[in-house]
Parts: sequence; C-alpha cells; structure tokens
Amino acid sequence: MITIKSEREIDLMRKAGMLVSRMHQFIKPYIKEGITTKELDSLCENFIRSHDAIPTEKGYEGFPASICASVNEEVVHGIPGKRKLKNGDIITIDVVIGYKGYQGDAAWTYAVGEVDEDKKYLLEHTEKALYEGVKMVKPGNRIGDISYAVQKYAEAHHLGVVRELCGHGIGKEMHEDPEVPNFGIPHTGPKLKPGMVICIEPMLTFGHRDIYITDDDWTVITQDSSPAAHYEHTILVTKDGYEILTPRLDN
Ligand code: MG
Repeated sequence: MITIKSEREIDLMRKAGMLVSRMHQFIKPYIKEGITTKELDSLCENFIRSHDAIPTEKGYEGFPASICASVNEEVVHGIPGKRKLKNGDIITIDVVIGYKGYQGDAAWTYAVGEVDEDKKYLLEHTEKALYEGVKMVKPGNRIGDISYAVQKYAEAHHLGVVRELCGHGIGKEMHEDPEVPNFGIPHTGPKLKPGMVICIEPMLTFGHRDIYITDDDWTVITQDSSPAAHYEHTILVTKDGYEILTPRLDN
C-alpha cells in the first residue's frame, strides 16, 4: 500500500532527511586513505545517536552496522570492517536515519584522494542519472517515467544498470511501497500523488551490470569486478513537483 503523508509526517521526514544530509557532510572529511570502514561506521553512529536519532540499518534483518560502506566493485550493502581505504578508491556511504518514528535515506559515492578518469566518469554520470529520475517527479507522472529516465541516461552513457535492486517508498518504515526500479517503461506503474515519499537510487556499473552476493550474505559485488556507484535521495511529491528531503549541503 502506498501511503500519503500528512503535513505533520512530512515535517518529521524533512527533519530525518536533514539529519541524513548533515551526517554525510560530517563524514566527508574523514573519507581519506588509511581509515577503515569500521571507523567510518563508528563516527556515523555517534553522530546519529548524538542527535537523538536512530541508525535504522543497524540490526535490520541482522545487518551489523549503522551505515553501508561499499568500496570499488562493491555495489551496495557493504559491511563496515577492517578494510582500509586507499588513494584512488571510491566508497558509497548509504545511511537510513530514524527521527521520531520517520525515516530519511540517502547514499552518495565519494572519491578517496585522486581517482582515475573511469571512476570520475562513473561518479559524475551516476549522480546525473539520479537527477534525471528526480526531474520526473510530479503529480500525474508514473513510477515508470522515473525508471525510464534513469535507464535512458545511464545507457546513453554506456553504464550498466543494476536491475536486481531498486528504490522504494519510505515513511515510518525504510522500505515501503512502491518499488522504484532503475529501468522501465514510460507511462506505466503507480501514479505519483502529492504527499507520497520515495527514494530514487540508481546503482550503476562501469562494466557489465551483472552482480552477485558474497558469502557474508550482504555485500553485492559486480561480477566482472568493475567499479560501481550509487546515489540516492529521499523525495517528497509536492503539489506541482518535488522536494528533495536529503539535500546535498556541499554544493
Ligand atoms: Mg539507502
């Protein structure tokens, strides 16, 4: 069931989303050669809890950490651990924060030091693919319009679209209806209405789009070991368009 949020709920989701944005802003300067993904996780957890909020991912179906930290060929759901970041790596930090019972969710991929041209290209165009999807959000449009816009942009830039994972509705729960795939057909799927809140989150690969799950049962990796990027916003459908509830505070 797709829920329509009340003004009160939207206000709480705006606050949850802003905490997500602020956490990304907080962690960015720490993303440097030598730090482990576990250290990043601890910093993020402290930030979240010190703002009277909850790291929703921790304990979700047994996930052991407060953020997903996915490096290079890891697409999503990387478990923070002893891996040390190296110059030239890319890392996706994906976080869901609960505030007074409502969720905010955003991911971005960061460059560690100086990355090669291929990774720069992947980051630039995965983020742009996200905004191609976001631009389609307005009442009357359908989920398929978002999906198609993301797919069209990604494929025009020769990037692989991971199909096994998708965006989602969000509210009291971090995963609600509807599903928001990153590929699809225009004018199909659920119709967007004011008060709906969805997460749009292209996961794109520099090589082939095929993936697999490693034996930790969480980490999703590209089959050909090519790098992957992931950008995500929580988006409110407004009367005449959209509002990004997880705005980037760094540009
Ligand atoms: Mg997320």
